[in-house]
Amino acid sequence: MSSLIEHFIAGTTYSEPRTRTGAVHNPSTGEEIARCAYGSFATVDHAVMVAKEAGRRWGRASHAARQAVIYKLRELMIANLDTLAEAIGREHGKTIPDAKGELGRAIEGIEFACNAPHVAKGEYANNVGGDIEVFSMRRPIGVVGCITPFNFPIMVPAVMMTMAVAVGNAIVWKPSEKVPSAALEFARLWKEAGLPDGVFNVVQGDKEVVDAILEHPGIAGVSFVGSTTVGEYIYQKGTSHNKRVAAFTGGKNHMVVLPDADLEAAASAFVSAGFGSSSQRCMAVSLLLPVGHETAERLRDLIIPKIQALKVGPYNDASADFGAVVSRESRTSVERAISRCIEEGGELVIDGREIEIPGHPNGFYLGPTLFDRVTTDMHLYKEEVFGPVRGIMRPTSFEEAIEITNMHEYGNGSVIFTRDGKSAHRFMMEVESGMIGVNVPVPLPSAYFNFGGLRRSKFGEGHLYGPDAARFYTKIKTVSQRWPEPDDRALPISLAFNPSA
Ligand code: NAD
Repeated sequence: MSSLIEHFIAGTTYSEPRTRTGAVHNPSTGEEIARCAYGSFATVDHAVMVAKEAGRRWGRASHAARQAVIYKLRELMIANLDTLAEAIGREHGKTIPDAKGELGRAIEGIEFACNAPHVAKGEYANNVGGDIEVFSMRRPIGVVGCITPFNFPIMVPAVMMTMAVAVGNAIVWKPSEKVPSAALEFARLWKEAGLPDGVFNVVQGDKEVVDAILEHPGIAGVSFVGSTTVGEYIYQKGTSHNKRVAAFTGGKNHMVVLPDADLEAAASAFVSAGFGSSSQRCMAVSLLLPVGHETAERLRDLIIPKIQALKVGPYNDASADFGAVVSRESRTSVERAISRCIEEGGELVIDGREIEIPGHPNGFYLGPTLFDRVTTDMHLYKEEVFGPVRGIMRPTSFEEAIEITNMHEYGNGSVIFTRDGKSAHRFMMEVESGMIGVNVPVPLPSAYFNFGGLRRSKFGEGHLYGPDAARFYTKIKTVSQRWPEPDDRALPISLAFNPSA
């Protein structure tokens, strides 16, 4: 019988007598390896009550006390790298080195959260008028509801929640039901790091739990990372329930290559940023835009052998470049995208549909697939395909390449390869994406810069990490104060609205 993956509330696993469950698979083998408990409004209500109580005390703890926990969490993440990578790989399908890469980024986010006392401090001005001084302070918002996607089971939650906790909030987190085990591992590390019970809670489940988080009056803010359709729903529903919401959503990232670029470097960057993690990254490069016929032909000749050399395999095969996609449904949907692009006139250059992985006949595998001559009216241009299918478009000029990049509904990351500083500058000024790369494969900023897309890649204000994250998780109070000397005259009555009184 499959084991049951439970919730984690008040510092311990939490189970309910009657509960819905869902299957959890190992994508590398296709087997069901566990069941995941699905919570309800009652589960969320219980978690919020616990979080509120624990959060009230945690919000009053000193910065030093909070920082000690975050420092310890960092140490524990490093000490438990193998266990965490295994939990990620087994349920997500990404290779162990890729999982460790994700954990490295998570640790960066945790390190940045150690700066919380600095990035979340207020402002001060004296002599504002007649011995009056004014200062502002940033206070925790309360209980934060976090809803995360399957594709980064630890990195996204870590960068999102560590800052929220570091500035004094408590958490109710709904992880993706496809990768629930890593959430429990992470919760246990928080406890071991010394976080008081009840500050960090996990409610497993599906839409029912999401809706409960969005509707619950005890939740002050919601952080979401996931697809655009769901993110837009979460933003609209969450704000209608008077919560602050930041939703980081889908991407379709373009890589423009100018004729003067180092084409060998651009080709390698496209293959690694395009197919890493079976292309299940919001910052993956989806579309290659070489400018002009000659650049396109040369680049195509360079990338084809690199793509054909990629090895697909189970998450624990040390020689595999990437693994299976996360679910059978996901593979079917990517296969559908391939068929549709063929129907719409795309040129199928490499077809990954018939891939077979020895010893793993039922795994959710898809080989790398490449289309050429993709145009803006095709679905492969319009829609995010969360699987290893990439396309080449053929703009005839730099202007057209910028126009194609900007007419897309998403604006997560965009990249240019060129040796010309003027063109690179124009690209970074004119392209409407939240993150821009120049001669780098994935423009994922370091944790001390803000992360977030533009257009329909983000809903709401705030960023996922960087200084803006600390601002999102705090509310401002501004104090005006005056301390008269004992023999000062009482202020005269004045009904004027005079700022320098
Ligand atoms: P998803 O939107 O399907 O799921 C995200 C979360 O929402 C999960 O916890 C899921 O249980 C929940 N959910 C799913 N359907 C829901 C519904 N109808 N109502 C309420 N909640 C629902 O996303 P996913 O497939 O887990 O992740 C992939 C997506 O996430 C891609 O679109 C990717 O681009 C995006 N993503 C974005 C970023 C970013 O920073 N912009 C980062 C990582 C992933």
